[in-house]
Amino acid sequence: MIEVKNLTKSYGRLKAIDNISFSVDTGEVLGFLGPNGAGKSTTMNIITGYISSSSGTVTVDGAEILEQPRKAKSKIGYLPEIPPLYTDMTVRRYLEFMFELKRVKLPKREHIDEIMRVVSINEQADRIIGHLSKGFRQRVGFAQALLGNPPVIILDEPTVGLDPKQIIEIRKLIRSLGKKHTVIFSSHVLSEISAACDRIIVINRGKIVADAKVDELAGVLSGGQRLSLIVEGSPSAITEEIKLLPGVTRVKKERELSGGSARYTVSYDSDTDVRRAVFGAMARIDCPILEMKSGDESLEEMFLKLTEQSEGGDEE
Ligand code: ADP
Ligand code: MG
Repeated sequence: MIEVKNLTKSYGRLKAIDNISFSVDTGEVLGFLGPNGAGKSTTMNIITGYISSSSGTVTVDGAEILEQPRKAKSKIGYLPEIPPLYTDMTVRRYLEFMFELKRVKLPKREHIDEIMRVVSINEQADRIIGHLSKGFRQRVGFAQALLGNPPVIILDEPTVGLDPKQIIEIRKLIRSLGKKHTVIFSSHVLSEISAACDRIIVINRGKIVADAKVDELAGVLSGGQRLSLIVEGSPSAITEEIKLLPGVTRVKKERELSGGSARYTVSYDSDTDVRRAVFGAMARIDCPILEMKSGDESLEEMFLKLTEQSEGGDEE
């Protein structure tokens, strides 16, 4: 449905995005995750034809965005980071206005009524947008993106500034949109993305650092297993010793604790269980283990690791 190829956007010497490629299948809900300044909005603004790229191509349902801009844009409903709302219009008037602007060819009154129902703002139809809460205003932005039933919906940080209850409702809305539309939405908050989408692309400093199904992401990096340890003794000796064990991919001293001990995180391949080996190694160098906990790497940790790594890393 969407094909992004070798997209680059430069601002002077800064490459806001650097040779990005990915495709999105029909019906997929794709989460676009990255810290602030990663290049999320830039990518979305190029896909939706708001800004041009320095190089690369974007094809939406067969139409290239620069060659057939009207056709490509008609396939997309876009909710930008700052929704283009007219705060002195009523909800209905605004949606009618956008309906005209987008030259939608559906029966106007019914279509707008239906969309207001989908995003649950029918009771707000005659209220002035400027008088609505942030959550309702965001829904009006959603409604605007849905006008004309475009096959692709693109949402840039749709939950920013909302309270937890509103966030849950927007997530549900995104999920339900995914039944009929291809959806791309961005966030810098991992939990939001993993709750609402099928697939995640992680972007950092203008580059894609991971692209995987949500449930596969745990395996993308070092196999996704993790051990949390508190060990007493020389941190350099402990780190060196654990690093040498088969299957271990990373050892990080998290922080020193009182009494000469410290907390460490050990990442290792999921097909090896390194707990016994760690026990043996620590016994050999006479460093008592005060605590050992194992578990899957959380998505948060992985996100941090991915973005850390592409910054050159600060691993020990
Ligand atoms: P995100 O949406 O992930 O927070 P952006 O796509 O907005 O990131 O920005 C990516 C990078 O490009 C940032 O470093 C930002 O400062 C820079 N940038 C974005 N827009 C412009 C612009 N119009 N002029 C100069 N630099 C820009
Ligand atoms: Mg942004």
